[in-house]
Amino acid sequence: MAVFRQVFVLGHSHCGSTLLGRMLNMHPATICCGELLWLDDALARNLPCLCGRQLEDCVLWGSLLKAWPPAARADYRKTGIAELEGLRIGAGRELLVDLSKSRVWRHPVFRRHSDAGRIFILRDPRALIAARLREGGEIHHELRQHAKWQKRFARMIIHAGSAGLIIRYEDLADHPEAEIRKVCAFLGLDPHPDMLRPSDGEHHFVHSSASPYLRGSNEIRRDDRWRRELRPEHLALIRSRLSHLPGYQNVYDLSC
Ligand SMILES: [Zn+2]
Repeated sequence: MAVFRQVFVLGHSHCGSTLLGRMLNMHPATICCGELLWLDDALARNLPCLCGRQLEDCVLWGSLLKAWPPAARADYRKTGIAELEGLRIGAGRELLVDLSKSRVWRHPVFRRHSDAGRIFILRDPRALIAARLREGGEIHHELRQHAKWQKRFARMIIHAGSAGLIIRYEDLADHPEAEIRKVCAFLGLDPHPDMLRPSDGEHHFVHSSASPYLRGSNEIRRDDRWRRELRPEHLALIRSRLSHLPGYQNVYDLSC
């Protein structure tokens, strides 16, 4: 029996939350619909579902949109626990996984929602900053934002106590079976073999752009592009500005 009815995944963009969400969504007791608190942004920008269809044409979101209160479709802060519970119960699942990350922190209710579990996905900050630079980010701005959110996520996970779990993207990619076993133990679920074959299922995630990296493949392999993308001056800046942050000491050696 699942320990929680909802679990919120926390982490920076590109932390690997879509991978974890796709794996958890393969479990028969679980549903993941992506970044539910970014639905307003997905509608405003006409972003498709992860299945490739427009939300209105998606087999899941087509009907979900009709049930979602208009106020919550326009402003994520109007989404309440009732919407998440309605979705979970309607799907007949024990657990709903949400990938909204930073908006959970910003949400007036979900930030303090003590019945939900929280999973913080750490990833090497060099990979995270490289992904932002790839999208056109400016290094100093990205470093400031990263430091701010790393402190916020770390505070949330400490506050969650036994309802919080920290995992590393690198462990999930390198040893998916062992890491999924750990996540399932935290959630009170028996691991299911389909979780290691996330590309066998169709996933209806809102606001989760699938990285083209390994899309459609069940091979789970690290994305280490940062190693050839970051310049020595970037690496030095990341080391001096981020290595002291909570969660990174003794976890990532940013000097090598
Ligand atoms: Zn879909």
